[in-house]
Amino acid sequence: MKTLLPTSTSGSLPKPAWLAQPEQLWSPWKLAQDILPEGKHDALKLSLHEQQCAGIDIVCDGEQTRQHFVTAFIEHLSGVDFENRETVTIRNRYEASVPRVIGAVKRTRPVFVEDAKFLRSQTSQPIKWALPGPMTMIDTLYDAHYKSREKLAWEFAKILNQEAKELEAAGVDIIQFDEPAFNVFFDDVNEWGVAALERAIKGLKCETAVHICYGYGIKANTDWKKTLGEEWRQYETIFPKLQKSNIDIISLECHNSKVPLELMELIRGKKVMVGAIDVANHDIETPEEVATTLRKALKFVDADKLYPCTNCGMAPLPRHVARAKLSALAAGAELVRQELVQ
Ligand SMILES: [Zn+2]
Repeated sequence: MKTLLPTSTSGSLPKPAWLAQPEQLWSPWKLAQDILPEGKHDALKLSLHEQQCAGIDIVCDGEQTRQHFVTAFIEHLSGVDFENRETVTIRNRYEASVPRVIGAVKRTRPVFVEDAKFLRSQTSQPIKWALPGPMTMIDTLYDAHYKSREKLAWEFAKILNQEAKELEAAGVDIIQFDEPAFNVFFDDVNEWGVAALERAIKGLKCETAVHICYGYGIKANTDWKKTLGEEWRQYETIFPKLQKSNIDIISLECHNSKVPLELMELIRGKKVMVGAIDVANHDIETPEEVATTLRKALKFVDADKLYPCTNCGMAPLPRHVARAKLSALAAGAELVRQELVQ
């Protein structure tokens, strides 16, 4: 990356009201099937345009073509029954009706590759593409076939690797795996979670990232955060293993969270996407607030490895709020950039 402190977002951005109900997660599509694909691509162009207007350096699709960050991927696999669903508790936090794994899981066709080619055709800026991580995928399913979280994660890792290689060939510069489950199942992360992630990135030449957050700003997550105490030290148990892994970039939550920033010392040497924008409220950060978070992070992350980012996706926020937060991120990064080049 040539730019110092290149800005990006975690991934999802609000959808236009004509495509899906705003300010709602996993909102159903509003367009009829025959015009939906064109509508999704129009929304992707809008989302890209808004990132560019705000001055974001590494752009993405804003997840405009997906209803849910995990199921949009699983829908394209065989071996999963979406009709006879099962209720499970996701990340030990909230109940959800989820699809069931009923046979060997296989990727029968590319999932996001055409969308990624479309994004590539619209910009010459670096692009990032988000995929769900293996552990987060299994946590969003009921497994009636493998009967082993580890085995199923390994199968998903192989499938994700197939998809990631095609995304790389489509011109994606950074492939990101979303693993909020890493913040919950610490023993699994250390026993097989990081290994599964490394299987998913095997043989890739593009950059790879893992996004580990405290979730969207929805009630189930904000209630859970209240139970985590004065210091959130979850990263402490997983960072040492990640530091030794082949993953290039680690994306984490910082601003307004109770994560002690010195935990970033545990991943020294990695590139770090530092969350300098809170996605759980509608207050717009000032550029100075963003800069303050970034300056604090600079104590633990070398300047050439610091990537200013959002704490998590912004899909549930009103569009004007998300736009203003993106502009604040870019302006805050610019303030610190000026200080660094002096
Ligand atoms: Zn997130």
